[in-house]
Amino acid sequence: MASISLTLTDEQRALKAGVAEICKRYPGEYWRELDARREYPEAFVSELTKAGYLAALIPAEFGGAGLPIADGALILETIHANGGNAAACHAQMYIMGTVLRHGGEAQKRKYLPKIATGELRLQAFGVTEPDSGSDTTKLQTTAVRTGDRYVVNGRKIFISRALQSDLMLLLARTTPVDRIARRTDGLSVFLVDIRGLKGLEIRPLRMMMNHSTNALFFDDMEIPADSLVGEEGRGFSYILDGMNAERVLVASESVGDGRWFTERAVAYSGQRVVFGKPIGVNQGVQFPIAKAHMAVDAAALMRDKAAALFDAGEPCGAEANMAKYLAAEAAWEAANACIDCHGGYGFAEEYDVERKFRECRLYKTAPVNNNLVLAYVGEHVLGMPRSY
Ligand SMILES: Cc1cc2nc3c(=O)[nH]c(=O)nc-3n(C[C@H](O)[C@H](O)[C@H](O)COP(=O)(O)OP(=O)(O)OC[C@H]3O[C@@H](n4cnc5c(N)ncnc54)[C@H](O)[C@@H]3O)c2cc1C
Repeated sequence: MASISLTLTDEQRALKAGVAEICKRYPGEYWRELDARREYPEAFVSELTKAGYLAALIPAEFGGAGLPIADGALILETIHANGGNAAACHAQMYIMGTVLRHGGEAQKRKYLPKIATGELRLQAFGVTEPDSGSDTTKLQTTAVRTGDRYVVNGRKIFISRALQSDLMLLLARTTPVDRIARRTDGLSVFLVDIRGLKGLEIRPLRMMMNHSTNALFFDDMEIPADSLVGEEGRGFSYILDGMNAERVLVASESVGDGRWFTERAVAYSGQRVVFGKPIGVNQGVQFPIAKAHMAVDAAALMRDKAAALFDAGEPCGAEANMAKYLAAEAAWEAANACIDCHGGYGFAEEYDVERKFRECRLYKTAPVNNNLVLAYVGEHVLGMPRSY
């Protein structure tokens, strides 16, 4: 039976303290400077990897810590609550689950131990395309089997960390649409070693926040046939299998953001004096912060429930989706309360509020937009008609 613990265990407290200790060495200035230059937080990610935190969810037999998702969630939440941005490295935690659940034994033995030590990075996840977007089954990138290889053609958009990653999990069409029975058939997942790969062009995109995001172009890109994960044609269901983990982990980053914003808002509004008193005594300043705090705490509870169900191997689609939605909205509410109470200073880079404001906004849109989460809840939880 799944159950939620309302307090952290001693091990979890130590885990949180260890991550927070690393975060202290990477203060606001570090993230701010990288943000201005749109550079990858190489030093932070390396230190986190060396300490084993990015291998938290890899089973011990493959060199990881074999921790439950609740602990992966705690790691990511802690990074965000300390002003950092785990988006630089979070994908590894959730995409390696696809390899773990559906990859062949040889694939797991070849890659997972190296991912655990940091010798290889699996940080790139190639799903979104310019012409399909949220409607994943309409993706047009093809992978055609020729002998012992697949030849990949097409393009992807908004693929993060492709330049910082050695490996990419790629979703492509292996059976043409006119030869499939269901729209979810005919897609396959590949674990691709993208280092120096011919036929792959990676074009960085300058985004609102520092996210190392790119457009990818595949022009007769040849990959070994054994890059295929699991069975050909079943890729869409494999990706869906990983969605609950992704939702729980991303929700945790939003919860961390929400905590960072409320903490900053409380501190600033207690110290900023206007009209002879701290601004925090005004209900117009205090109440939005109090409301955001309640929203963040409630989202954290839903996240905990989703994680507990996930770790117990019970269905958790509803909770994982609700946690992702509630946490992204709560972080955004907290971001607005925080920027509002900072007045003009909220827009000054040196306060980090505007940076976190830009960063946290992403999670209302990606990895899945909140409208589609509402559609999921309407259809799958409440039994209402499919809206799309
Ligand atoms: C910084 C960043 C990093 C990203 N990293 C990656 C990555 O590493 N890998 C990857 O594969 N993708 C990545 N993405 C892509 C991201 O997952 C998509 O942008 C997201 O899923 C939304 O898809 P879209 O942009 O095509 O929007 P669309 O699907 O075109 O949707 C546009 C808008 O229409 C609304 N909408 C669409 N359909 C419906 C509907 N049925 N009902 C109600 N509203 C609807 C949505 O709310 C949305 O706001 C990234 C995106 C960003 C911005």
